[in-house]
Amino acid sequence: MSSNINKISEIRARAAHPNHMYAYCRVIGCGRPARAGTSTGLDTRYCRVHADHLSRHGSAYKGSYLAKVINPYRRAALDWLLVHGDLFWVKDAVGKVEGLYHGGGPHIEAFRLPGLKPRERGKAQWARLRHHEVDPRLVVAVWLAVEMVIGDDLQPVSTSQYKRVQAAKVVHRMASGTHKSWEQERPHPAHPGLPPIVHIQKLSWYPKSRGRVLRYIGEDLERAAELLVDHHLEEVREYKRERDSQGKPATRPYPKGIRARGRRMGT
Ligand SMILES: [Zn+2]
Repeated sequence: MSSNINKISEIRARAAHPNHMYAYCRVIGCGRPARAGTSTGLDTRYCRVHADHLSRHGSAYKGSYLAKVINPYRRAALDWLLVHGDLFWVKDAVGKVEGLYHGGGPHIEAFRLPGLKPRERGKAQWARLRHHEVDPRLVVAVWLAVEMVIGDDLQPVSTSQYKRVQAAKVVHRMASGTHKSWEQERPHPAHPGLPPIVHIQKLSWYPKSRGRVLRYIGEDLERAAELLVDHHLEEVREYKRERDSQGKPATRPYPKGIRARGRRMGT
């Protein structure tokens, strides 16, 4: 009993004098208390709202680039890749993404993913892209696009975490969820003697786009594309600038006929 009271007073004392490093959210002007627990895996340097934001976007305060902002970069990067498919560093990056596809292990249905660790879910994402036959050049284009859009941002977040998460979010969307449909017979509502009515049931599962899995996917992609970036990013930028100066930039991230976001029922 007395030991319980001791414990309670100890907890009270700790609550009254929290470690000052972690007392308040690190986002300037926020003022909310930082999160105490680590059970959710959220960052304890921030309040709940900003820790959640960091988990989803790779920055505690800056949101993700909208599709309409990043799509012209993706399209320019892809078109450049299609024209320059013979360059050594293009082949290198595309080959490395193919390596990620093949190293991703067996295809895992989206509704089984929550049971896996983030690193395994990251690998499973590559297997999903392989399964859906997403053109690896689209994936390389995403990294180039993120490099360019951050480079052109007047108020960029220049951490590698933000870059990786931004790229991973786009890649994450490219492999669709798991969709299943099945038929269910129900007795005819008017008369049980009439033939039954067939209902089509559909269910979809989508992997969650947040947390450490995005960091792993982003890191994998960065490694695949970094030498291409070192050797050719400036040319890709120049290609986009030239295209922009000629008129309206493309809004679709890829031309029709390129395989992306395959939707296979029952897989
Ligand atoms: Zn905060």
